[in-house]
Amino acid sequence: MAIEVDLHLHTTQSDGRLTPTELVRLVAQKGLKVVAITDHDTTDGLAEAYQAAQAFPQLTIIPGVELSTDIPGNEVHMLGYYMDYQDPHFQAILETFREGRVGRAREMVRKLADLGMPVEWERVVQIAGQGAIGRPHIAQALVEKGYFQYPQQAFEQYLGRNGLAYAEREKMTPPEAVRLIRDAGGVAVIAHPAMLDGLDAILHDLSQAGMQGMEVHYAEYDEPARARLADAARRYGLLPCGGSDYHAFGTPGERLPGDFGPPMEIAQRLRALAQANARARAARRG
Ligand code: AMP
Ligand code: ZN
Ligand code: FE
Ligand code: FE
Repeated sequence: MAIEVDLHLHTTQSDGRLTPTELVRLVAQKGLKVVAITDHDTTDGLAEAYQAAQAFPQLTIIPGVELSTDIPGNEVHMLGYYMDYQDPHFQAILETFREGRVGRAREMVRKLADLGMPVEWERVVQIAGQGAIGRPHIAQALVEKGYFQYPQQAFEQYLGRNGLAYAEREKMTPPEAVRLIRDAGGVAVIAHPAMLDGLDAILHDLSQAGMQGMEVHYAEYDEPARARLADAARRYGLLPCGGSDYHAFGTPGERLPGDFGPPMEIAQRLRALAQANARARAARRG
């Protein structure tokens, strides 16, 4: 059956390589019907995406975001969908996280210089462009300098969480991210959860905190991994979501939007959850 839904996509507003317009054209051409744009710590790609989507009336774009959060020894990414993203409080918080990204990227560039792999800070900023600056931008600068063939390779020894040039930044905890998304009327969904140790305890705690979904149909996961995650989603009453997490990095074997994804029924249930959340939020606000 043709894939019609992709709930995890990045653009040049964070670390994706396609502009919102280019991404919208690509997903429309792939025959997708419902997609979410989930840039890291920003919703600034949405206005352009909605503009571009006017040419494709069969395509629905869900407002989304991907927030990085910290747990001891690991990182949890929390996707948010259907928030009232223009809410000033919500935007102010995203802004502080984007600022934290700048200082942290500088620190990583400094560490790389100490490790004998200098890149120009100005170049990294230029690569990031208008987008929320992230490790893939540094990785691209390293590739340009000829230290690596693909950005992915820079992560292995240097930019990954245990890498030599890794630097931390201020992040929320996962329950704080869930709260931020829910307070803005959105639906919180844990991203690419298979890499997490102690997943059951995490899912238990976060569903108590108001999280309503988890990624199951994820690019990197094979059938057994998806089956295991689908089972966990059932046990914790979480909506089994997913998408390609497409960045257009150009890494060999990179999965494209439309290669796989959740069924349309999941997009419908996501929307129903969001409608109920928005009603509850309106009631809270009186
Ligand atoms: P940042 O938001 O700066 O922490 O960077 C996170 C992004 O870097 C992720 O969304 C991925 O796009 C990319 N990334 C993280 N870890 C890896 C890895 N091991 N290999 C390739 N890309 C990675
Ligand atoms: Zn990314
Ligand atoms: Fe992620
Ligand atoms: Fe992502």
